[in-house]
Amino acid sequence: MLTDLQRRAAELDAADPLAPMQGHFALPAGRIYLDGNSLGAFQPALLQVASATLHEQWRDQLIAGWNEAGWFEAPLRVGDLIAPLIGAGPGQIAVCDSTSVNLLKAVDAMCQTQPERSVILAQGDNFATDSYMVQALARLNLRLSVRYFVGDDELRSHLSADDVACVLLSHVDYRSARKFDMAATTALIHAHGARVVWDLSHSTGAVAIDVVGAAADAAVGCTYKYLNGGPGAPAYIWIHPNWIDGVTPALPGWMGDARPFQFKRDYAPHPGIRRMLCGTPSILNLNVLEAALAVWDGLSLAAVEAKSQALSEWFLACVDALISDPQLRLASPASADQRGSHLAFAHPHAYPVVQALIARGVVGDFRAPDLIRVGFAPLYLSYADVLAAVQALADVLVTQDWNQPQFQARGAVT
Ligand SMILES: *Cc1c(COP(=O)(O)O)cnc(C)c1O
Repeated sequence: MLTDLQRRAAELDAADPLAPMQGHFALPAGRIYLDGNSLGAFQPALLQVASATLHEQWRDQLIAGWNEAGWFEAPLRVGDLIAPLIGAGPGQIAVCDSTSVNLLKAVDAMCQTQPERSVILAQGDNFATDSYMVQALARLNLRLSVRYFVGDDELRSHLSADDVACVLLSHVDYRSARKFDMAATTALIHAHGARVVWDLSHSTGAVAIDVVGAAADAAVGCTYKYLNGGPGAPAYIWIHPNWIDGVTPALPGWMGDARPFQFKRDYAPHPGIRRMLCGTPSILNLNVLEAALAVWDGLSLAAVEAKSQALSEWFLACVDALISDPQLRLASPASADQRGSHLAFAHPHAYPVVQALIARGVVGDFRAPDLIRVGFAPLYLSYADVLAAVQALADVLVTQDWNQPQFQARGAVT
């Protein structure tokens, strides 16, 4: 049985058009990394860029770097590298701030386009920061209030009140990996006169996205997950060209002003998405991210998504073949079309199981209360890696190795 699976993994790897992409990445020896959906892997080519930014730019050019090294334009220049990955046009994305901050800016902007409406509709089970940010927006802007929904039926029933200004949705759910049909859901929301902000944190770089084709209103996303920008790399924000020039940023920093070096008392927004810059951009991070994005040049997102789905289907096939623990239950949609690029399994001992896996070099993560989450970054994961990860999981479950005391202790970051 195992040799059959190994043979199949080797065939899948040999036929994988993205296999050469693995050469761009460096993973520690013996590590199988199923956490690219939380923090993407490192590329050795980034060292040279980081070093050049510190030495040839900062050390040698000092403040002249703002003009001579392209620092001033970096947020939109890097945005133009992300644009093709989400179906946006050039000049439509700013890379800045964190996803959390951009969520607040994007939802606020969409509510401004709906002055007659006051409800922000949010997922009750979304990533925590998405919820915190809309609550903060409602505290800052007393006109607004937050309503929550869970599940498609509640989404429809809240929308049918026809008082929703903006809906905030995670395209791919961070726990279950459930993926919305972006075009159909956007159309539903528009049919009720509301706008939609898509959080693409768990989809960018793993699934094909077309924000303009779907007629979405705004989107934000993360660059340290599947885009491999490094820990804390700046996030991005996209606002549809129909809206951007009519909105005033919630956080109008001087870098988003039309003429920042005139130091005027009153803010006048820069045309286009640049107005969404809040303050001075983080150049070291931006330059590293720009270099990290080079691997996407010429890649077909359809091929990336196809491999993502094939990897998760392969994981499930290996689980079927090798694991018969009745306590392990798939907590993601069964159909690959309805998932992003990770899988979640419920297990009553999920936390120590994940720790025991990490001790075997298989890095996934635990998500409260009882989920084992494994992510499949299509650019650097092989089918052989996936099989080896499932073998390790099978071993942890059969031996009950997770029961050891060292696997129970929890760190600050889980
Ligand atoms: C990762 C993620 C974030 C991250 O927000 P930060 O401000 O970068 O910490 C936000 N929302 C979702 C849905 C995410 O998956």
